[in-house]
Amino acid sequence: MVLVTGGAGYIGSHTCVELLNAGYDICVLDNLSNSCEEALNRVKKITGKDFKFYKVDLLDYEGIDKVFSENKIEFVIHFAGLKAVGESVAKPLMYFENNVGGTINLLKVMTKYNVKKIVFSSSATVYGDKSPAPYVETLPCAAINPYGRTKLMIEKILQDIYASDNDWDIALLRYFNPVGAHSSGLIGEDPNGIPNNLMPYISQVAVGRLECLNIFGNDYDTKDGTGVRDYIHVVDLAIGHLKALDKIKNKVGVVIYNLGTGQGYSVLDMVNTYSKVLGRPINYKFVDRRPGDLAEYYADPSKAERELGFKATRTLEDMCRDTIRWQEGNKNGYRG
Ligand code: NAD
Ligand code: UDP
Repeated sequence: MVLVTGGAGYIGSHTCVELLNAGYDICVLDNLSNSCEEALNRVKKITGKDFKFYKVDLLDYEGIDKVFSENKIEFVIHFAGLKAVGESVAKPLMYFENNVGGTINLLKVMTKYNVKKIVFSSSATVYGDKSPAPYVETLPCAAINPYGRTKLMIEKILQDIYASDNDWDIALLRYFNPVGAHSSGLIGEDPNGIPNNLMPYISQVAVGRLECLNIFGNDYDTKDGTGVRDYIHVVDLAIGHLKALDKIKNKVGVVIYNLGTGQGYSVLDMVNTYSKVLGRPINYKFVDRRPGDLAEYYADPSKAERELGFKATRTLEDMCRDTIRWQEGNKNGYRG
């Protein structure tokens, strides 16, 4: 059985679908701090399969222990964590406590139950702001905000655990920019409040929840002056987790993979493709750069392709079409 922490969240719920479709038994642990149980009902609807859900906080050691005592867990896919960069700058202790403290509790319980195989959600943010794209896994790491530091610290903690006990097998997955939704339109990204990220912002402008997209800077040294990122369809990303899980079934120690497409798209590429698929324009204006943003980055995805047999196949049009289907069917997300 696979324990999915943060399984009610955006990437977690899509990964639950792929795991269930592939025949895995799963159980989900989530404190619902940034998600709704309805997402899990939808996962059950899409797959026609049932699984246990524990509303547990990773800061609650006994709560995690109960999940392990009641289930035969063999693998953990660890998504649970807070992820808003700006909030992490304002509330660093909350981020270190939740992300690092929560992970330490999880790892202690895993050790107790002799479960030593874990896939961890890291992020391209660990490459910092000094390296040129494409980012390759061997680049030096240097996080530039508290959120990124939690990811880097957890990567280091996992590497130290392996160094102390070679029975562990650990995959560190560095995601680029996940977007899109399941093709059923039943699950997708449902941020609380006004979205920080580009794709949910565009999609809320498209359905009239927000008035106008602010494009943060049009004077970057990029093809059209707007920021360039590597957007990966969330279902491709979810499939990447199954490939990583297959990998750590063998004795591999600690492995690190970028999960991206290797293709950079600008903010204007995103807006224009979204408008084209939607069939009407998206209202936008240029505003100042957002502090802390880089001009351009994208993955070198070749290691994951070589060693995991993973290659993202969904196009930018797919990402937009699936986001539109999700947003139009769920104008106010899971809250109805
Ligand atoms: P999300 O917020 O939708 O999902 C995270 C889930 O973890 C939520 O359901 C939340 O309720 C839960 N959670 C948070 N703290 C918890 C705790 N202490 N105990 C139990 N549950 C807790 O985010 P997501 O976009 O699905 O991201 C999943 C993971 O991937 C996160 O670790 C995130 O940092 C990482 N990541 C995300 C992105 C991105 O752009 N979405 C990029 C790189 C890495
Ligand atoms: N962006 C934007 N307007 C928004 C949100 C994002 O112009 O409302 C830009 C941002 O400057 C970056 C790209 O879109 O160039 C992706 O930003 P996002 O926050 O989605 O992801 P990040 O790359 O920061 O993790």
